Amino acid sequence: MQQPAFAYVRHGQTPFFRLPTRDVGVDAEAYRGIQAVLLGVPYDGGCTHHPGARFAPYHVRRVSATTQSFHPSHRIDVFQALRCVDGGNAALPPFAPAMAREILQQEIGAITSARARPFVVGGDHSITLPVLRALAEAHGPLAVLHIDAHLDTSTGELWGDAFHHGTPFRHAIEEGLLARDALVQVGIRAPWGTPEEDALVKGYGGRILSPFELQDPRTLARELRGHFGGRPLYVSIDVDGIDPSFAPGTGTPVPCGLTPREVTSLLRGLAGCRLVGMDVVEVCPALDHADLTSLLAAHLIFEGLALAALAGE
Ligand code: MN
Ligand code: MN
Repeated sequence: MQQPAFAYVRHGQTPFFRLPTRDVGVDAEAYRGIQAVLLGVPYDGGCTHHPGARFAPYHVRRVSATTQSFHPSHRIDVFQALRCVDGGNAALPPFAPAMAREILQQEIGAITSARARPFVVGGDHSITLPVLRALAEAHGPLAVLHIDAHLDTSTGELWGDAFHHGTPFRHAIEEGLLARDALVQVGIRAPWGTPEEDALVKGYGGRILSPFELQDPRTLARELRGHFGGRPLYVSIDVDGIDPSFAPGTGTPVPCGLTPREVTSLLRGLAGCRLVGMDVVEVCPALDHADLTSLLAAHLIFEGLALAALAGE
């Protein structure tokens, strides 16, 4: 349950959505009985361009506080239906990326072993890989809906490091974390380095949709519901998938993006899917205007929480 607005103002602390807090790290017992854990990941050591996403969890917490609990479209009281806490932040060393990945995988593992779902607020997109590793360990190969301007299946050639925010889905495919045919990338539009950039995903049976190809998000959601079936589904939202006019606070903006309404419709249409976790990444508050991007991130996470609330256990 949310804290009353008065209590939130009175004590001056700003947990996600005015939720109760658990600062437990890797102690799964402390999550026992909880169904959803919001976890901040203040880490942007995987940024190739403009850093700053490490500050997103603090801003998303602040702007999420005014969100009320009743979902007007699904007609469900999200925080009454779903036992949900703010698990604090994964405290990752900013200068030791391998160690950071290891710690985050353990923290997500603690959430899944308590049979709760992680809802992760990044951080740059490199943090998705350890989350996928932990979830695939718990549930087997995952179906993934990936919203992004970029494919994120790059290699380390350019930077000399195989793990940066342009690579998580290459590793996820190569490590067998994703179910074949079940990676769907929507919003993809940034120019590529080579003509073969889409070969990995297509060779794996994945689907790539640019904003120009997306006709009706509700129709797409209906197709995806059938396609994903009962497979465990992870939703990863890079806010640069959304148009920079709506989401200016991000490190690698690309014109001609999705609208917040399209992405929200798509998420709402996934009701009935077996959502096992979600992230929203690449919010860079220093580049934001009037908290537009942080607020959008909070609302997208709320849509994911609503799906979990509808699903019950
Ligand atoms: Mn991107
Ligand atoms: Mn990305």
